[in-house]
Amino acid sequence: MKKEITVKVKSRFVDKFKSGYPLIFKEAIINIDVFDKEGDIVKLVDERNKFIARGYYGKQNKGYGWILSRKENEKIDISFFEKKIVSALNKRVSLYNSRDTNAFRVFNGEGDGIGGLTIDYFDGYYLINWYSKGIYKFRDHVINSLKRLVEFKAMYQKKRFDTQGKYIEEDGFVLGERGQFPIIVKENGVNFAIYLNEGAMVGVFLDQRNVRKTIRNKYSKGKTVLNTFSYTGAFSVYAALGGAKKTTSVDLANRSLAKTIEQFSINGIDYEAHDIVVEDVFNYFKYALKKELKFDMVILDPPSYAKSKKFKFSAANDYKNLLKEAIAITEDNGVIVASTNCSSFNMTKFKGFIDTAFKEIHGKYKILEEFALPSDFRSIKEYEESNYLKVVFIKKIKR
Ligand code: SAH
Repeated sequence: MKKEITVKVKSRFVDKFKSGYPLIFKEAIINIDVFDKEGDIVKLVDERNKFIARGYYGKQNKGYGWILSRKENEKIDISFFEKKIVSALNKRVSLYNSRDTNAFRVFNGEGDGIGGLTIDYFDGYYLINWYSKGIYKFRDHVINSLKRLVEFKAMYQKKRFDTQGKYIEEDGFVLGERGQFPIIVKENGVNFAIYLNEGAMVGVFLDQRNVRKTIRNKYSKGKTVLNTFSYTGAFSVYAALGGAKKTTSVDLANRSLAKTIEQFSINGIDYEAHDIVVEDVFNYFKYALKKELKFDMVILDPPSYAKSKKFKFSAANDYKNLLKEAIAITEDNGVIVASTNCSSFNMTKFKGFIDTAFKEIHGKYKILEEFALPSDFRSIKEYEESNYLKVVFIKKIKR
C-alpha cells in the first residue's frame, strides 16, 4: 500500500480541479509542507475536508503531480492502471490494424488519464517514458499490466528525470528480447530507423505524422524544399518521396548528417541528390540571403528553446523573427510550414506571430491549412497545454 497524504486546496481552485483540470500545482495548495516522497498518493480535499480528487506526487517542471481519479472510492492500484491502459489500447485499434503505419503513441499521459507517463509503439517494441520519480514508483503496475495486455517483442523505457529533472542516460531495456537497433518501422508506408537504446530522442517525432503525409501528398511535387531544425530529416524524406526537386536539411547537431543519410537510404532515395547541411539555422538564413537562394517551401520546426554558440531562441519570444527570416527566402506563392511544440502559447497567439511577421515586412499571406496533435496524442480540453502542437501551412502571396 502506498502512503496517502491529504492536501488542502484553496477555495478558489476547487472548481478548477472538480471540472477536470489534471495538474496538481503549488499555487493551489494550502499545506505544501505535507508533500514528502514522490510516488505518494495525494488526496485533494477542500477547506472543509470534502473529497475533490486523488492523484500522485511527482515533481515535473509543470507541477507537483497529477490527478488520477475523481471518484472517492476508486483505489489507485494495479487494476486502476490496467483499466487506463486497456482504455487507451482500445482507442488505438485502428492504428494497430493499419497496414502502412506501425509506429504510434499508445498512451499519452494526462490525455489517457495518467499524467507523467507515455507509451509508444514501434512495430512490436514498446517504449515507456517516465517523466518523474513519482510516476516511476508505479513502474511495476504499468509494466505488469502492459505485459498482460499486449503481445510484444520487447519493452524499453526512458527515465526523463533525475534530481535536476533531466534525462537519465541508460540503454533502457526492460524485458523481452533485446532489439538490434536501428529497427525499421513504417509510417504512411515510409521507413524510419528507430533507436530505443540511445539518448532521449529515438529518431522520429511521432506527433507530426499527419503533417508529414500532407507535405508529401500535397505540397512537394517539383518543389525546392528547405527543412530547418531537420534532426533526422523526416520532413525532407517525405518531401523527396512526394517528388520534390531537391531538399535541403539544416541542423546544427553533428549526428544529423549520418541520421539523415540513413533515413534517405532506407527509403531508397539517393541522398547525394539532396543537401544535408550541419550548421546553425540562423547562419544558414544569412548565407541563403547573401547567395539569393530561394525555396518553394520552407519548413520551420524549432525546439521551444535552443541555445547555440551564437544564438538563443525561445519560441514564445522569437518565433516571429524566425518567420521573418524564412519569409525572406521563400519564393512568391511558396509555402512556409510553421510548426511549434511550445505549450506556453496557443494557436491564436501563434497565428498572431504569423500575422505580425508578415505585417512587419509589409507582406501578404494566406493560411492554407492547420494541424494540431493527431488522435493518438490524446489531450484534454480542461488542460490546454496538453494540446501543444501547432502547425500552420502559410502561402506567401506575391504583392
Ligand atoms: N523537425 C524535426 C525535429 C526537430 S528537433 C523532425 O521533424 O524530426 C529540434 C532540432 O533542432 C534538433 O535536432 C537540434 O539539433 C536542432 N537545433 C536546435 N537549435 C538549432 C539551431 N540554432 N540551428 C540548427 N538546428 C538547431
